[in-house]
Amino acid sequence: MSDLESFRRETREWLEANAPKGVIGVPSAELEGNWGGKKATYPNPDMKVWLDVMAEKGWTAPTWPKEYGGGGLDNAHAKVLAEEMKALRLPPPLVGFGLTMIGPTLLRFGNEEQKKEHLPKICRGEIRWCQGYSEPGSGSDLASLQTKAVRDGDHFIINGTKVWTSYADQADWIFALVRTDPNAPKKQEGITFILIDMDDPGVTVSPILLISGKSPFCETHFKDVRVPVKNVVHEIGAGWTVAKALLGHERTMIADAFGASGLKPRKDSKRSFLSDLAIDYLGEDADGRIADPVIRDEVAAIEMDSRAFGLTVQRARDAARAGHQPGSESSMFKVYGTELNMKRYELMVRILGPQALGWEGPGFSESELDTTREWLRSRGNSIEGGTSEIQLNIIAKHVLGLPV
Ligand SMILES: Cc1cc2nc3c(=O)[nH]c(=O)nc-3n(C[C@H](O)[C@H](O)[C@H](O)COP(=O)(O)OP(=O)(O)OC[C@H]3O[C@@H](n4cnc5c(N)ncnc54)[C@H](O)[C@@H]3O)c2cc1C
Repeated sequence: MSDLESFRRETREWLEANAPKGVIGVPSAELEGNWGGKKATYPNPDMKVWLDVMAEKGWTAPTWPKEYGGGGLDNAHAKVLAEEMKALRLPPPLVGFGLTMIGPTLLRFGNEEQKKEHLPKICRGEIRWCQGYSEPGSGSDLASLQTKAVRDGDHFIINGTKVWTSYADQADWIFALVRTDPNAPKKQEGITFILIDMDDPGVTVSPILLISGKSPFCETHFKDVRVPVKNVVHEIGAGWTVAKALLGHERTMIADAFGASGLKPRKDSKRSFLSDLAIDYLGEDADGRIADPVIRDEVAAIEMDSRAFGLTVQRARDAARAGHQPGSESSMFKVYGTELNMKRYELMVRILGPQALGWEGPGFSESELDTTREWLRSRGNSIEGGTSEIQLNIIAKHVLGLPV
Protein backbone atom coordinates (compact mmCIF):
# COMPACT_ATOMS: atom_id res chain seq x y z
CA MET A 1 0.00 0.00 0.00
CA SER A 2 1.41 3.41 -0.95
CA ASP A 3 2.16 6.05 1.61
CA LEU A 4 -0.83 8.11 0.44
CA GLU A 5 -3.20 5.14 0.56
CA SER A 6 -2.21 4.23 4.09
CA PHE A 7 -2.47 7.90 5.10
CA ARG A 8 -5.99 7.95 3.66
CA ARG A 9 -6.98 4.86 5.64
CA GLU A 10 -5.48 6.16 8.90
CA THR A 11 -7.04 9.57 8.38
CA ARG A 12 -10.49 8.13 7.81
CA GLU A 13 -10.20 5.94 10.91
CA TRP A 14 -8.97 8.86 12.98
CA LEU A 15 -11.74 11.18 11.77
CA GLU A 16 -14.43 8.55 12.37
CA ALA A 17 -13.13 8.00 15.88
CA ASN A 18 -12.64 11.65 16.82
CA ALA A 19 -15.26 13.77 15.02
CA PRO A 20 -18.15 14.40 17.42
CA LYS A 21 -21.55 13.39 16.01
CA GLY A 22 -23.00 16.89 16.47
CA VAL A 23 -20.87 18.45 13.72
CA ILE A 24 -21.44 15.87 11.00
CA GLY A 25 -23.28 17.36 8.03
CA VAL A 26 -23.67 20.78 9.67
CA PRO A 27 -22.94 23.54 7.13
CA SER A 28 -19.96 25.64 8.15
CA ALA A 29 -22.06 28.82 8.21
CA GLU A 30 -24.29 27.35 10.92
CA LEU A 31 -21.43 26.37 13.20
CA GLU A 32 -21.24 29.26 15.60
CA GLY A 33 -17.83 29.35 17.24
CA ASN A 34 -15.79 28.16 14.30
CA TRP A 35 -14.22 31.61 13.92
CA GLY A 36 -12.60 31.07 17.33
CA GLY A 37 -11.36 33.90 19.56
CA LYS A 38 -11.77 34.85 23.19
CA LYS A 39 -15.38 35.96 22.66
CA ALA A 40 -16.46 32.79 20.83
CA THR A 41 -19.53 31.05 22.21
CA TYR A 42 -20.25 27.43 21.45
CA PRO A 43 -24.03 26.88 21.44
CA ASN A 44 -23.21 23.50 19.93
CA PRO A 45 -20.62 22.13 22.41
CA ASP A 46 -19.51 19.52 19.85
CA MET A 47 -18.08 22.38 17.80
CA LYS A 48 -15.59 23.16 20.56
CA VAL A 49 -14.66 19.47 20.89
CA TRP A 50 -14.13 19.31 17.12
CA LEU A 51 -11.94 22.42 17.15
CA ASP A 52 -9.85 21.12 20.04
CA VAL A 53 -9.22 17.62 18.64
CA MET A 54 -8.34 18.96 15.21
CA ALA A 55 -6.05 21.66 16.68
CA GLU A 56 -4.30 19.06 18.82
CA LYS A 57 -3.61 17.05 15.68
CA GLY A 58 -2.42 20.20 13.81
CA TRP A 59 -5.22 19.84 11.28
CA THR A 60 -6.87 23.24 11.65
CA ALA A 61 -3.92 24.42 9.49
CA PRO A 62 -2.82 21.15 7.87
CA THR A 63 0.03 22.54 5.74
CA TRP A 64 1.56 24.92 8.27
CA PRO A 65 4.78 23.70 9.93
CA LYS A 66 4.28 21.60 13.06
CA GLU A 67 6.46 23.90 15.16
CA TYR A 68 3.82 26.64 14.73
CA GLY A 69 0.84 24.42 15.50
CA GLY A 70 0.14 23.18 11.97
CA GLY A 71 0.00 19.64 10.65
CA GLY A 72 3.20 19.73 8.57
CA LEU A 73 1.42 17.98 5.70
CA ASP A 74 2.56 18.37 2.12
CA ASN A 75 0.10 19.27 -0.62
CA ALA A 76 -0.82 15.69 -1.55
CA HIS A 77 -1.51 14.63 2.06
CA ALA A 78 -3.48 17.80 2.81
CA LYS A 79 -5.63 17.07 -0.22
CA VAL A 80 -6.34 13.56 1.07
CA LEU A 81 -7.36 15.01 4.44
CA ALA A 82 -9.72 17.49 2.71
CA GLU A 83 -11.23 14.68 0.62
CA GLU A 84 -11.79 12.44 3.63
CA MET A 85 -13.40 15.27 5.60
CA LYS A 86 -15.70 15.93 2.65
CA ALA A 87 -16.59 12.24 2.32
CA LEU A 88 -17.55 12.10 6.02
CA ARG A 89 -19.43 15.43 5.72
CA LEU A 90 -17.22 17.11 8.31
CA PRO A 91 -17.09 20.93 8.35
CA PRO A 92 -13.85 22.87 8.73
CA PRO A 93 -13.10 23.08 12.46
CA LEU A 94 -11.88 26.66 12.13
CA VAL A 95 -12.28 29.50 9.63
CA GLY A 96 -11.40 33.19 9.63
CA PHE A 97 -8.85 35.85 8.87
CA GLY A 98 -6.20 34.26 11.10
CA LEU A 99 -6.02 31.14 8.96
CA THR A 100 -6.65 32.71 5.58
CA MET A 101 -4.98 36.12 5.77
CA ILE A 102 -2.59 37.00 8.60
CA GLY A 103 -1.30 33.45 9.13
CA PRO A 104 0.04 32.94 5.57
CA THR A 105 1.40 36.51 5.69
CA LEU A 106 3.30 35.88 8.93
CA LEU A 107 4.67 32.63 7.54
CA ARG A 108 6.18 34.64 4.70
CA PHE A 109 7.09 37.97 6.28
CA GLY A 110 6.99 37.47 10.08
CA ASN A 111 10.10 37.02 12.19
CA GLU A 112 10.61 33.93 14.33
CA GLU A 113 9.29 35.59 17.48
CA GLN A 114 6.09 36.73 15.73
CA LYS A 115 5.49 33.29 14.24
CA LYS A 116 5.96 31.55 17.60
CA GLU A 117 3.74 34.08 19.33
CA HIS A 118 0.80 34.22 16.95
CA LEU A 119 0.58 31.14 14.72
CA PRO A 120 -0.06 28.50 17.43
CA LYS A 121 -2.84 30.70 18.88
CA ILE A 122 -4.42 30.97 15.43
CA CYS A 123 -4.24 27.19 14.97
CA ARG A 124 -5.92 26.58 18.33
CA GLY A 125 -8.66 29.14 17.58
CA GLU A 126 -7.69 31.16 20.65
CA ILE A 127 -7.33 34.50 18.92
CA ARG A 128 -9.63 36.04 16.32
CA TRP A 129 -8.20 38.63 13.91
CA CYS A 130 -9.65 41.52 11.95
CA GLN A 131 -8.29 43.66 9.14
CA GLY A 132 -7.57 47.38 9.52
CA TYR A 133 -6.92 48.59 5.97
CA SER A 134 -9.76 50.90 4.80
CA GLU A 135 -10.24 54.39 6.22
CA PRO A 136 -13.03 56.95 5.81
CA GLY A 137 -11.01 58.68 3.05
CA SER A 138 -9.05 55.68 1.72
CA GLY A 139 -10.69 52.65 0.10
CA SER A 140 -9.71 51.90 -3.48
CA ASP A 141 -6.86 54.37 -3.13
CA LEU A 142 -5.63 52.49 -0.08
CA ALA A 143 -2.12 53.95 -0.20
CA SER A 144 -3.54 57.37 0.70
CA LEU A 145 -4.28 56.10 4.24
CA GLN A 146 -3.75 58.58 7.08
CA THR A 147 -3.74 56.61 10.37
CA LYS A 148 -0.61 57.97 12.00
CA ALA A 149 2.06 56.03 13.90
CA VAL A 150 4.69 58.15 15.64
CA ARG A 151 7.78 56.53 17.14
CA ASP A 152 8.31 56.91 20.88
CA GLY A 153 11.29 54.78 21.95
CA ASP A 154 10.36 51.12 21.66
CA HIS A 155 6.76 51.95 20.79
CA PHE A 156 4.63 53.58 18.14
CA ILE A 157 1.80 55.86 19.24
CA ILE A 158 -1.11 55.27 16.87
CA ASN A 159 -3.97 57.67 16.12
CA GLY A 160 -6.63 57.42 13.43
CA THR A 161 -9.77 55.64 12.28
CA LYS A 162 -10.35 52.50 10.24
CA VAL A 163 -13.72 51.77 8.65
CA TRP A 164 -15.60 48.71 7.37
CA THR A 165 -13.53 46.60 9.77
CA SER A 166 -15.41 43.30 9.51
CA TYR A 167 -16.08 41.70 12.91
CA ALA A 168 -13.84 44.14 14.82
CA ASP A 169 -16.31 43.82 17.71
CA GLN A 170 -15.55 40.07 17.86
CA ALA A 171 -11.82 40.27 17.28
CA ASP A 172 -8.91 40.11 19.73
CA TRP A 173 -6.18 41.47 17.46
CA ILE A 174 -6.10 43.62 14.33
CA PHE A 175 -3.49 43.70 11.56
CA ALA A 176 -3.34 47.29 10.35
CA LEU A 177 -1.67 49.61 7.88
CA VAL A 178 -0.37 52.83 9.42
CA ARG A 179 1.60 55.79 8.12
CA THR A 180 5.01 55.96 9.77
CA ASP A 181 6.60 58.42 7.34
CA PRO A 182 4.32 61.23 6.15
CA ASN A 183 7.22 62.73 4.15
CA ALA A 184 8.09 59.66 2.06
CA PRO A 185 8.40 60.60 -1.65
CA LYS A 186 5.73 58.10 -2.73
CA LYS A 187 2.54 57.47 -0.75
CA GLN A 188 3.18 53.69 -0.78
CA GLU A 189 6.60 54.14 0.83
CA GLY A 190 5.71 55.54 4.24
CA ILE A 191 3.35 52.72 5.21
CA THR A 192 3.99 50.10 7.90
CA PHE A 193 2.14 46.84 8.59
CA ILE A 194 1.63 46.38 12.34
CA LEU A 195 -0.17 44.03 14.75
CA ILE A 196 -2.33 45.65 17.43
CA ASP A 197 -3.93 44.11 20.51
CA MET A 198 -7.60 45.19 20.56
CA ASP A 199 -7.56 45.06 24.39
CA ASP A 200 -5.57 48.32 24.48
CA PRO A 201 -7.85 50.93 26.14
CA GLY A 202 -7.15 53.35 23.26
CA VAL A 203 -8.91 51.03 20.76
CA THR A 204 -12.68 51.53 20.50
CA VAL A 205 -15.07 49.87 18.12
CA SER A 206 -18.48 51.07 16.89
CA PRO A 207 -20.64 48.67 14.82
CA ILE A 208 -22.24 49.93 11.56
CA LEU A 209 -25.73 48.60 10.80
CA LEU A 210 -26.24 47.41 7.21
CA ILE A 211 -29.12 47.19 4.73
CA SER A 212 -29.17 43.39 5.21
CA GLY A 213 -30.10 43.94 8.88
CA LYS A 214 -26.81 42.49 10.09
CA SER A 215 -23.82 44.36 11.39
CA PRO A 216 -20.56 42.64 10.63
CA PHE A 217 -18.85 46.01 10.06
CA CYS A 218 -17.33 48.42 12.51
CA GLU A 219 -15.51 51.67 12.70
CA THR A 220 -12.30 51.15 14.68
CA HIS A 221 -10.78 54.15 16.40
CA PHE A 222 -7.20 54.41 17.68
CA LYS A 223 -6.53 57.08 20.30
CA ASP A 224 -2.91 57.22 21.50
CA VAL A 225 -2.58 53.44 21.25
CA ARG A 226 0.92 52.33 22.32
CA VAL A 227 2.14 49.44 20.19
CA PRO A 228 5.58 47.86 20.62
CA VAL A 229 7.89 48.32 17.62
CA LYS A 230 8.43 44.54 17.68
CA ASN A 231 4.86 44.19 16.37
CA VAL A 232 5.90 45.58 12.98
CA VAL A 233 5.76 42.84 10.34
CA HIS A 234 8.65 42.95 7.83
CA GLU A 235 10.33 46.37 7.91
CA ILE A 236 9.21 49.80 9.02
CA GLY A 237 8.04 51.63 5.87
CA ALA A 238 7.79 48.40 3.84
CA GLY A 239 4.18 47.66 4.74
CA TRP A 240 2.85 48.10 1.22
CA THR A 241 4.65 44.93 0.08
CA VAL A 242 3.13 42.97 2.97
CA ALA A 243 -0.30 44.55 2.38
CA LYS A 244 -0.36 43.50 -1.29
CA ALA A 245 0.70 39.94 -0.49
CA LEU A 246 -2.06 39.65 2.10
CA LEU A 247 -4.61 40.99 -0.41
CA GLY A 248 -3.65 38.14 -2.75
CA HIS A 249 -4.65 35.66 -0.03
CA GLU A 250 -7.79 37.64 0.77
CA ARG A 251 -8.98 37.79 -2.85
CA THR A 252 -8.48 34.08 -3.40
CA MET A 253 -10.31 33.38 -0.13
CA ILE A 254 -13.28 35.60 -1.13
CA ALA A 255 -13.50 33.94 -4.57
CA ASP A 256 -13.38 30.54 -2.90
CA ALA A 257 -15.88 31.33 -0.16
CA PHE A 258 -18.51 32.99 -2.33
CA GLY A 259 -18.03 31.87 -5.91
CA ALA A 260 -16.33 28.52 -6.07
CA SER A 261 -17.96 26.67 -3.22
CA GLY A 262 -21.50 27.24 -4.51
CA LEU A 263 -24.46 26.16 -2.42
CA LYS A 264 -24.38 22.66 -1.02
CA PRO A 265 -27.08 20.28 -2.35
CA ARG A 266 -29.78 19.37 0.11
CA LYS A 267 -29.14 16.28 2.16
CA ASP A 268 -29.94 13.10 0.19
CA SER A 269 -30.77 15.07 -2.98
CA LYS A 270 -29.16 14.14 -6.28
CA ARG A 271 -29.98 17.55 -7.74
CA SER A 272 -28.12 20.81 -7.23
CA PHE A 273 -29.39 23.26 -4.64
CA LEU A 274 -30.64 25.67 -7.34
CA SER A 275 -32.51 22.91 -9.18
CA ASP A 276 -34.31 21.83 -6.03
CA LEU A 277 -35.21 25.41 -5.22
CA ALA A 278 -36.53 26.07 -8.74
CA ILE A 279 -38.64 22.89 -8.69
CA ASP A 280 -40.08 23.82 -5.28
CA TYR A 281 -41.26 27.19 -6.56
CA LEU A 282 -41.87 26.62 -10.28
CA GLY A 283 -42.72 22.93 -10.43
CA GLU A 284 -41.30 20.23 -12.70
CA ASP A 285 -42.16 19.02 -16.19
CA ALA A 286 -43.02 15.45 -17.22
CA ASP A 287 -39.30 14.60 -17.44
CA GLY A 288 -38.62 15.78 -13.88
CA ARG A 289 -36.88 18.97 -15.05
CA ILE A 290 -37.50 22.53 -13.89
CA ALA A 291 -40.81 23.44 -15.55
CA ASP A 292 -39.81 26.95 -16.65
CA PRO A 293 -37.43 26.50 -19.63
CA VAL A 294 -35.83 29.95 -19.29
CA ILE A 295 -35.01 29.47 -15.60
CA ARG A 296 -33.87 25.91 -16.38
CA ASP A 297 -31.32 27.26 -18.87
CA GLU A 298 -30.10 29.86 -16.41
CA VAL A 299 -29.75 27.32 -13.60
CA ALA A 300 -27.78 25.02 -15.93
CA ALA A 301 -25.47 27.88 -17.00
CA ILE A 302 -24.75 28.91 -13.40
CA GLU A 303 -24.16 25.31 -12.31
CA MET A 304 -21.69 24.74 -15.18
CA ASP A 305 -19.86 27.99 -14.45
CA SER A 306 -19.74 27.14 -10.74
CA ARG A 307 -18.33 23.70 -11.45
CA ALA A 308 -15.65 24.98 -13.84
CA PHE A 309 -14.72 27.81 -11.51
CA GLY A 310 -14.63 25.47 -8.49
CA LEU A 311 -12.11 23.26 -10.29
CA THR A 312 -9.99 26.26 -11.27
CA VAL A 313 -9.88 27.55 -7.71
CA GLN A 314 -9.10 24.02 -6.51
CA ARG A 315 -6.02 24.13 -8.73
CA ALA A 316 -5.00 27.48 -7.23
CA ARG A 317 -5.57 26.08 -3.73
CA ASP A 318 -3.33 23.11 -4.51
CA ALA A 319 -0.65 25.47 -5.82
CA ALA A 320 -0.94 27.57 -2.64
CA ARG A 321 -0.52 24.44 -0.50
CA ALA A 322 2.62 23.69 -2.49
CA GLY A 323 4.01 27.11 -1.50
CA HIS A 324 3.01 29.20 -4.56
CA GLN A 325 2.22 32.78 -3.51
CA PRO A 326 -0.97 34.12 -5.09
CA GLY A 327 -0.22 36.90 -7.58
CA SER A 328 -2.37 39.03 -9.88
CA GLU A 329 -4.41 35.95 -10.81
CA SER A 330 -6.16 36.35 -7.44
CA SER A 331 -7.79 39.47 -8.98
CA MET A 332 -9.23 37.33 -11.80
CA PHE A 333 -10.62 34.84 -9.27
CA LYS A 334 -12.04 37.64 -7.18
CA VAL A 335 -13.93 39.31 -10.05
CA TYR A 336 -15.21 36.07 -11.52
CA GLY A 337 -16.18 34.40 -8.24
CA THR A 338 -17.98 37.38 -6.78
CA GLU A 339 -19.83 38.24 -10.01
CA LEU A 340 -20.90 34.59 -10.20
CA ASN A 341 -22.19 34.65 -6.63
CA MET A 342 -24.18 37.83 -7.29
CA LYS A 343 -25.73 36.24 -10.40
CA ARG A 344 -26.60 33.17 -8.33
CA TYR A 345 -28.51 35.25 -5.77
CA GLU A 346 -30.21 37.37 -8.45
CA LEU A 347 -31.53 34.14 -9.94
CA MET A 348 -32.66 32.79 -6.57
CA VAL A 349 -34.63 35.98 -5.93
CA ARG A 350 -36.31 35.63 -9.34
CA ILE A 351 -37.16 32.00 -8.58
CA LEU A 352 -38.73 32.96 -5.24
CA GLY A 353 -40.75 35.75 -6.90
CA PRO A 354 -42.94 37.63 -4.40
CA GLN A 355 -41.68 35.33 -1.62
CA ALA A 356 -38.33 37.13 -1.90
CA LEU A 357 -39.91 40.43 -0.92
CA GLY A 358 -40.16 39.70 2.80
CA TRP A 359 -38.12 41.30 5.52
CA GLU A 360 -39.69 39.87 8.67
CA GLY A 361 -43.00 38.67 10.06
CA PRO A 362 -45.52 36.05 8.91
CA GLY A 363 -46.04 34.96 5.29
CA PHE A 364 -42.38 34.13 4.67
CA SER A 365 -40.37 31.09 5.69
CA GLU A 366 -37.00 31.40 7.47
CA SER A 367 -35.17 30.26 4.35
CA GLU A 368 -37.00 32.86 2.21
CA LEU A 369 -36.04 35.63 4.61
CA ASP A 370 -32.47 34.33 4.64
CA THR A 371 -32.32 34.32 0.84
CA THR A 372 -33.43 37.95 0.71
CA ARG A 373 -30.78 38.95 3.25
CA GLU A 374 -28.04 36.91 1.55
CA TRP A 375 -29.00 38.49 -1.78
CA LEU A 376 -28.49 41.92 -0.21
CA ARG A 377 -25.25 40.73 1.39
CA SER A 378 -23.99 39.51 -1.98
CA ARG A 379 -23.97 43.13 -3.27
CA GLY A 380 -20.93 43.66 -1.02
CA ASN A 381 -19.04 40.92 -2.88
CA SER A 382 -18.02 43.28 -5.66
CA ILE A 383 -16.62 45.75 -3.10
CA GLU A 384 -14.90 43.79 -0.30
CA GLY A 385 -11.23 42.97 -0.76
CA GLY A 386 -11.02 45.69 -3.45
CA THR A 387 -13.82 46.54 -5.89
CA SER A 388 -14.40 44.77 -9.22
CA GLU A 389 -13.24 47.93 -11.07
CA ILE A 390 -9.96 47.92 -9.16
CA GLN A 391 -9.46 44.19 -9.91
CA LEU A 392 -10.08 44.90 -13.61
CA ASN A 393 -7.44 47.65 -13.46
CA ILE A 394 -4.97 45.17 -11.92
CA ILE A 395 -5.78 42.53 -14.54
CA ALA A 396 -5.36 45.09 -17.35
CA LYS A 397 -2.01 46.23 -16.02
CA HIS A 398 -0.36 43.15 -14.50
CA VAL A 399 -1.99 40.22 -16.33
CA LEU A 400 -2.68 41.60 -19.81
CA GLY A 401 0.16 44.15 -19.78
CA LEU A 402 -2.10 46.88 -21.22
CA PRO A 403 -0.99 50.50 -20.95
CA VAL A 404 -3.04 52.17 -18.17
C1 LIG B 1 -18.49 43.11 2.87
C2 LIG B 1 -17.30 44.02 3.02
C3 LIG B 1 -16.33 43.71 3.96
C4 LIG B 1 -15.23 44.57 4.14
N1 LIG B 1 -14.33 44.27 5.12
C5 LIG B 1 -13.26 45.09 5.32
C6 LIG B 1 -12.33 44.81 6.38
O1 LIG B 1 -12.49 43.85 7.14
N2 LIG B 1 -11.30 45.64 6.54
C7 LIG B 1 -11.09 46.71 5.73
O2 LIG B 1 -10.09 47.41 5.91
N3 LIG B 1 -11.97 47.03 4.74
C8 LIG B 1 -13.06 46.25 4.53
N4 LIG B 1 -13.97 46.55 3.52
C9 LIG B 1 -13.81 47.80 2.77
C10 LIG B 1 -13.41 47.60 1.31
O3 LIG B 1 -12.08 47.16 1.20
C11 LIG B 1 -13.63 48.95 0.59
O4 LIG B 1 -15.01 49.25 0.68
C12 LIG B 1 -13.19 48.88 -0.85
O5 LIG B 1 -11.80 48.81 -0.94
C13 LIG B 1 -13.69 50.12 -1.65
O6 LIG B 1 -13.37 51.31 -1.01
P1 LIG B 1 -14.48 52.44 -0.78
O7 LIG B 1 -15.67 51.81 -0.12
O8 LIG B 1 -13.83 53.58 -0.07
O9 LIG B 1 -14.95 52.89 -2.23
P2 LIG B 1 -14.24 53.95 -3.18
O10 LIG B 1 -12.78 53.68 -3.23
O11 LIG B 1 -14.67 55.33 -2.77
O12 LIG B 1 -14.85 53.58 -4.59
C14 LIG B 1 -16.14 54.08 -5.02
C15 LIG B 1 -16.39 53.60 -6.44
O13 LIG B 1 -15.41 54.15 -7.32
C16 LIG B 1 -14.76 53.13 -8.05
N5 LIG B 1 -13.34 53.48 -8.24
C17 LIG B 1 -12.49 54.02 -7.32
N6 LIG B 1 -11.24 54.17 -7.84
C18 LIG B 1 -11.29 53.68 -9.10
C19 LIG B 1 -10.33 53.55 -10.16
N7 LIG B 1 -9.06 53.90 -9.98
N8 LIG B 1 -10.73 53.00 -11.33
C20 LIG B 1 -12.02 52.60 -11.51
N9 LIG B 1 -12.98 52.72 -10.57
C21 LIG B 1 -12.63 53.24 -9.37
C22 LIG B 1 -14.87 51.89 -7.18
O14 LIG B 1 -14.77 50.70 -7.96
C23 LIG B 1 -16.26 52.08 -6.58
O15 LIG B 1 -17.24 51.62 -7.47
C24 LIG B 1 -15.09 45.74 3.33
C25 LIG B 1 -16.08 46.04 2.38
C26 LIG B 1 -17.19 45.21 2.23
C27 LIG B 1 -18.23 45.57 1.23
